[in-house]
Amino acid sequence: MDMLKGKVAVITGAARGIGREIALTFARNGAGVACIDLDLGGIKEVAEEIKVIGGKSSSFKCDISNSGEVEEVFASILQEFPQIDILINNAGITKDNLLIRMSEDEWDSVLRVNLKGAFNCTKVISKHMIKKRQGKIINIASIIGLIGNAGQVNYAASKGGLIAFTKSVAKELASRNVNVNAIAPGFIRTKMTDSLIDEVKNEMLKRIPLAKFGNPSDVANTAIFLASTLSDYITGQVITVDGGMVM
Ligand code: NAP
Repeated sequence: MDMLKGKVAVITGAARGIGREIALTFARNGAGVACIDLDLGGIKEVAEEIKVIGGKSSSFKCDISNSGEVEEVFASILQEFPQIDILINNAGITKDNLLIRMSEDEWDSVLRVNLKGAFNCTKVISKHMIKKRQGKIINIASIIGLIGNAGQVNYAASKGGLIAFTKSVAKELASRNVNVNAIAPGFIRTKMTDSLIDEVKNEMLKRIPLAKFGNPSDVANTAIFLASTLSDYITGQVITVDGGMVM
């Protein structure tokens, strides 16, 4: 499979979970991959795995919520790769609490990473894609951004904001041949969901029509479609990957 042959993808939060799986899937499909994460050890391991596959990959430690760091990192990526064709805004965090107990820091930090982080990366890369007159931007949102969730007002607001951001950027960049879409995963098995207690997981399972949790590969397979020419006529959309939870 060479769906992304010759393309270069930047993936945030690539050290583990969904981001890692997207990085490996893209590399298997011929893309060069620039991995961004706070966890440098983690992305270096991913880069090693990509080398074994025979692909090109580089690792960049960066806090995506810091606009200065993001600008520097994208300049470094463009020294190593000839161009950037695909951006996956994947890095995200949760700091769950009920609204009345939620601290200002729990609110701010989630919005800063999940929403401002995507803004920082998209702003820098858009300038490059506009000049090239091509690009694919994929934002990893969440079904929680569509339906809300008790105990996650900060996360829901960040992901709902990311969906609105996706549609607005899609409208701004469409005339420059840049497609901007979002994926809204449901319950995917990663470190983020591992920490949930069995009771919550069992309750969740009852609400999934396909009666099983998703894997990072389910999201990566959707990302590869949105990053490839197969989706050239699709922009401003949100694709749920959730076993049918939201329909
Ligand atoms: P994960 O396993 O927690 O991985 C997230 C990665 O992002 C970690 O490597 C983390 O690094 C990195 N990261 C966090 N803050 C960062 C920052 N400021 N700058 C750079 N990197 C940062 O998460 P996941 O489950 O794979 O989720 C990936 C995305 O999918 C997230 O946006 C999440 O909201 C979304 N999503 C996940 C699910 C699910 O069920 N898993 C469902 C819906 C949506 P550190 O470990 O060093 O902090």
